[in-house]
Amino acid sequence: MIIAVDGPMASGKGTIARALAAKFGLPHMDTGALYRAVAVDVLEAGANPKDAAAAEAAARSLDPDAIDEAKIRSAGAGVAASIVSAHSGVRAALKQLQKDFAHREGGAVLDGRDIGTIICPDADVKLFVTASEEARAWRRHSELVNRGEVIGFDQVLIQLRERDGRDAGRADAPLLKADDAVELDTTDMDVGEAVRAAIAIVERAR
Ligand code: C5P
Repeated sequence: MIIAVDGPMASGKGTIARALAAKFGLPHMDTGALYRAVAVDVLEAGANPKDAAAAEAAARSLDPDAIDEAKIRSAGAGVAASIVSAHSGVRAALKQLQKDFAHREGGAVLDGRDIGTIICPDADVKLFVTASEEARAWRRHSELVNRGEVIGFDQVLIQLRERDGRDAGRADAPLLKADDAVELDTTDMDVGEAVRAAIAIVERAR
């Protein structure tokens, strides 16, 4: 069973995808981590995330097993990820890796922006996780603050709007709900409620 979980930043898709993977005994891939890792490599090489050639070279040489979680989770890495991910060369370089993961024996859960539309249009279950802008900004703000980052709520809200705009507005693989995806709005749900709702959607679809 392939489960595709898409949605905007801080919608809860990552938490839901991890919980679904645990519940159904499937491996999980956080595809945002790939784009974040490419962005960090570009920045560490002193290049500009807007430089398509530099970003594509970083994507082609990415070792997914060597991703440093501590580095990729900063707000800056998220902003840079939404810039490098708009380059078609970057998306092409990371595509097969994601498809191979999805199509392994027994299936998998993948979360991202284009899983149900581009990476796994054949997924057995597709969820599109949403939440209000305000709820998402508060969640991401407390996540970053808990990790020790010094950042104000207003700054997180500005970054969220910028990233949403870039992710939905890019020409290649924009953030889009697949026609056959089930939408799950987590605005008024706590984590437990959101996970239970997602499990119910998967069980209905099976
Ligand atoms: O999901 P996360 O916020 O970690 O993703 C970081 C960035 O990577 C997103 O803002 C988006 O630009 C990009 N991304 C993407 N396609 C995916 C997953 C993430 O373009 N499948």
